[in-house]
Amino acid sequence: MTQILLYDTTLRDGTQREDISLSCDDKLNIARRLDQFGIRYIEGGWPGSNPKDAEFFSRAGELELRQARISAFGSTRHKNKRCQDDKNLQALLRASTPTVTLVGKSWDFHVRDILDTTLQNNLAMIRDSVAYLKDHGKEVMFDAEHFFDGYKANPEYALKTIEAAAESGADFLILCETNGGALPWEVENIVQAVGANFDTPLGIHAHNDSACAVANSLAAVRAGCVQVQGTINGYGERVGNADLSSIIPDLQLKMGHEVVSPKQLAGLTALSRFVAELANLALDNHKPFVGQSAFAHKGGIHVAAVLKSVNSYQHVDPALVGNEMRAVVSELSGRGNLVYQARARGLEISREDAQRVLHQIKEMEHEGFSFEAAEASVDLMLHRVREDYRPPFELIDFMVVTEQRQRRGLLAEATVKVKIGDEIKLTAAEGNGPVNALALALRKALLDDYPELASLRLADYKVRILNSERGTAATTRVLIDFHDDTRTWTTVGASANIIEASWRALSDSMEYAILAGAGVFDHTSSQPSGTDDGAAE
Ligand SMILES: [Zn+2]
Repeated sequence: MTQILLYDTTLRDGTQREDISLSCDDKLNIARRLDQFGIRYIEGGWPGSNPKDAEFFSRAGELELRQARISAFGSTRHKNKRCQDDKNLQALLRASTPTVTLVGKSWDFHVRDILDTTLQNNLAMIRDSVAYLKDHGKEVMFDAEHFFDGYKANPEYALKTIEAAAESGADFLILCETNGGALPWEVENIVQAVGANFDTPLGIHAHNDSACAVANSLAAVRAGCVQVQGTINGYGERVGNADLSSIIPDLQLKMGHEVVSPKQLAGLTALSRFVAELANLALDNHKPFVGQSAFAHKGGIHVAAVLKSVNSYQHVDPALVGNEMRAVVSELSGRGNLVYQARARGLEISREDAQRVLHQIKEMEHEGFSFEAAEASVDLMLHRVREDYRPPFELIDFMVVTEQRQRRGLLAEATVKVKIGDEIKLTAAEGNGPVNALALALRKALLDDYPELASLRLADYKVRILNSERGTAATTRVLIDFHDDTRTWTTVGASANIIEASWRALSDSMEYAILAGAGVFDHTSSQPSGTDDGAAE
């Protein structure tokens, strides 16, 4: 099977997305991760276009890459200048990368109307620029901009442009689907036609404007392209570039091309989330392969089937891409979802207990709780239903006072009484608001017995008003995310009173942290075994 080379342009085309801005350090960190993951080419930016990209190239030496090659991106020489006088080409040389990606025009309409030059001169610009970079020892990717639109309009001329690049020594001819409007069969036919005329290896660079960038890239590989360009999570101008987070597993798991090692492929989900984190964009939960819901089952019948055979409702084993199967627990679920979640935590639960927890969940969802995101609350319920479960603490009562005093501003003070073993503890704390004061007082009460709570940090606090037509009597749902050094968890509370809703989520969160510290949840596996019927309700 032909070796397919992966080419990532997250750092250049990806940053053209309107709400992304990466610092130079972010870019270096992403490049390091792409190298570890096994991406062969990393396009670092356009050194001629802005100082931040130029800085990336001057610091790229710090990277100590294992296998990846860094590429600098730029365009063919100016229509009236010689290569040695062209600022852009000089910036490309100064970037000191082993590889240069040179974009040139291949659509006659663009040459005449946008570049405003003759078809002949454009060919000369391509020839001169490629030859100049080859003379300077560069590996050259020739990006034929708008190749597919150009081929549809004037195939003879489009072919002449890549012929000019090939004759001048280009190492790869990259056919760009720049406007993103082509369909997979058009791409496949055109790549095949081009391949019949050239020995130089071909690559594909697709944009997603007709929602076909992944399909177009796969079609191009099927027709003979050996290099695929794209970005992690499909970030890019307008609606985005071809999404490598989908293309890579498709190439490897469905088309049989080993583009990275199986171990590297298992790092795909982590890579996608890492890049989203640095880009400061929430990753879509429903993204194929890497989204949190990509292998989540909610319908009771699905979960019951998955418990019998894991492959009954999934297209690949999620572990291959580093993701995991989840059973979403909600009032729609059957007992199977709970049995699944319990097994995934290494907990055996009887049918009767599962039934009891399910009943409780349905009652609580009626009150306004929602457990789909609050897996920690479900984990606790699965433990609490067992006869041998002893809670690490019991709440006796709490009091919160919020005062607005002249010149002192808003002040909140909370008092908490809990029972740990046979001992009653009473603590108080001040906070910048009532929930904060409660959290601090509760932690203070527990800290002597459970010092692991010291590393606890609040990560997120979300409030949602349900049945808001009831005004101030509406139910409030609170979701609280805490994290410590190794994990993040979410708990839920609901009540007509926001303090009470927060209190329920807070105390669940502390209880979860204590159990987690004792290693109770360390048995997680994404594929629990067993053949319990787990019938759908
Ligand atoms: Zn592009």
